[in-house]
Amino acid sequence: MLNYKAYFNTMTNRCWTLPIVILYVTEGCNLQCRMCSYRKPLPDELTLDEIQKLADELLSFGLRHIVFSGGEPLLRKNFPDICQIFSRVNIKQTLLTNGLLLSKRYQEIQSYFHEIIVSLDGATADVQNSIRGVDSFDTILQGVKKVVSSNQRPLISFRIVIQKSNFRQMPMMIELARSLKIDRISFLAVDVRSVAYGRLETGETISDSSVNLNHEECSEFEEIIKQLSIDYQKQFENGFISESPEKLHHLAQYFKALIKEAEFPRNHCNAPNVSAVITSTGDVLPCYFLPSYGNIRQNILSSIVNSESIRQTRSEVKAYTLKQCQQCVCTLHVPFRNALFDKF
Ligand code: SF4
Ligand code: SF4
Repeated sequence: MLNYKAYFNTMTNRCWTLPIVILYVTEGCNLQCRMCSYRKPLPDELTLDEIQKLADELLSFGLRHIVFSGGEPLLRKNFPDICQIFSRVNIKQTLLTNGLLLSKRYQEIQSYFHEIIVSLDGATADVQNSIRGVDSFDTILQGVKKVVSSNQRPLISFRIVIQKSNFRQMPMMIELARSLKIDRISFLAVDVRSVAYGRLETGETISDSSVNLNHEECSEFEEIIKQLSIDYQKQFENGFISESPEKLHHLAQYFKALIKEAEFPRNHCNAPNVSAVITSTGDVLPCYFLPSYGNIRQNILSSIVNSESIRQTRSEVKAYTLKQCQQCVCTLHVPFRNALFDKF
């Protein structure tokens, strides 16, 4: 069936439908990553009743794909109830998790997901644990193995945030993913510039030099990517590695831009036209990085996503005038054809 509303979303700055939503079910987390400030759940997070009401609104507004994120979603005790709420109709559900509770809670949530994305930042315990601030490597791999060996399992993938202390491990990470028989692996650059990842609330920033690559490391990173494109040609072609070699070179260019040795790579993104991020207290954001333009406790969603300010933001994103967009590490681009053919 053709989705004309979604198609019009991609063509205008108005929101006729909201196909993709990223919902932070909690902002509490059981890891202590150096690049993120989420730690404790907020005192006034959305209740199950409020999430039920939100789901009703989203489903009548054309939701196709819900991504649960946070914080760590599996920390929330009634998370299976939340999944159940969204499983009333046939929409895609994806879980973004740090994996620490995956082994413990997989049975409760197994049936709901199309894909489980596990963020892992090291191919060895020392690297993973130092970036993530908690002894977590073995427990996460246990959880991953449990998912892989289960019947009728969802897709499972790794997402790696590339930074100073792990870029040399890229080949090992690919080998680890292959040996665990997971479905795919993707890489993105560490975000140091935005106020996402809880840094807005705490006012914290991270020291660039602790995570960014210096001149020599950028050159080394480019060589690693060149070698990967030779050694893993098949895995790039069959989508096991989500990014193309060209996209990985953009990561290297991003790090060079941070030390003023290159321009930031050109991003293509229409996230605010096809999606929204809803925080655990109901704020609605155009994407992970741009500020909130309303709260579902104060206004109905269809009005929030069509407010004057968000329509203005969509025009600015399209015109590529926002600094956040020019330095963004995690974009989303849904081509108009995919929108029309309802592929979310
Ligand atoms: S990056 Fe993810 S896993 Fe790490 S502290 Fe933040 S929410 Fe938790
Ligand atoms: S490029 Fe980044 S900051 Fe800009 S709209 Fe897309 S996700 Fe948001």
